[in-house]
Amino acid sequence: MEKLKERIVKCFTPRPHTDLQSEIINIIAAPIYLYTITGVFYHSFFYIMPYYYDSSSWTLFCQKCFLATIYFEMMSNWLCIHLVDNSLKTQVKHSTFNDRNNQGATKTDLESGIVADKHTPTRKGKIGTIPGPVSAPPTPKRRSYWSWHLCTKCDLNAPPRCHHCPFCDNCVLKRDHHCFFTRRCVGFYNQRHFVVFLVWAVFGTVYTTAHFIPYLLHVFLVSAWDLFAPFALLRACFGYGDFTTANIMFIFTFNLLFVMLSSAFLFEQIDLINTGITQFEQKKVDTKRLVISDPRHINDKVKAVLGHNYASSFVIPIMHLVYPPHENPFQWPEHKIYKK
Ligand SMILES: [Zn+2]
Ligand SMILES: [Zn+2]
Repeated sequence: MEKLKERIVKCFTPRPHTDLQSEIINIIAAPIYLYTITGVFYHSFFYIMPYYYDSSSWTLFCQKCFLATIYFEMMSNWLCIHLVDNSLKTQVKHSTFNDRNNQGATKTDLESGIVADKHTPTRKGKIGTIPGPVSAPPTPKRRSYWSWHLCTKCDLNAPPRCHHCPFCDNCVLKRDHHCFFTRRCVGFYNQRHFVVFLVWAVFGTVYTTAHFIPYLLHVFLVSAWDLFAPFALLRACFGYGDFTTANIMFIFTFNLLFVMLSSAFLFEQIDLINTGITQFEQKKVDTKRLVISDPRHINDKVKAVLGHNYASSFVIPIMHLVYPPHENPFQWPEHKIYKK
């Protein structure tokens, strides 16, 4: 009992650089997602589609196959976001560089100017894996924001665009943001899964909502009060309604919320891929009054996230093993950064 109490207190104690609100969202967001999506597809598959389509027709079979495909794509990409590792620690662990080479790389980086000027940490940390030759881009002179830096929490020299996440407690390569719904940072290796997930999520949530609304209005709803899920629950608790209605109203409300959230995130990701920066940098450019530009062609920017043959990632979730992101997470020679 004491252990359980200790664990609960630990869960709700904000870690450094986080707050209680974010900690609570980090705990409840993933179960809410699983409850909603599984509930939506379960009801759609077994009740809503048979209500609309004749059970002996091919249309019902096709609709069910379609639903199963959307659910599979959403869940597999959701799992991939959670499981695919972006951390610098893992890169170091699987490094093929020996210690001597690592030290050499550190020295080379310092000499070549990749590691920042006066902000260069004097304390020596291990350097991350460097897939490919490390050479300093000739121009322009980088600001310290876009430089190698020491993460004191991981005790590692981190490349530009790699930032420490207080929730994951890791340095994340090309950190975009911490995704509360998967409890994992979106970064260099799993950004593709996030984008693919959003495409299917927008499609799936809009599709199921369109079928849900007439079904609820014509078949399920017994009172206008039930439209507001907490009221439906209260009515069920006091014996004026039933818990099945309350449950379906919560599922429907969260699904509606996911329509808005996934659409907003998808548009944001399209914009970020187009501009070649991350959500983390998007916030920084405003606060630090910076301009970060990526002059590459849009096709290269898409490949940088989705790898070669990127259309395949929208169908087969594990394509990251065949076509990894087409850029180097330790070097960003194309990007230009300057002050406004
Ligand atoms: Zn770190
Ligand atoms: Zn994180």
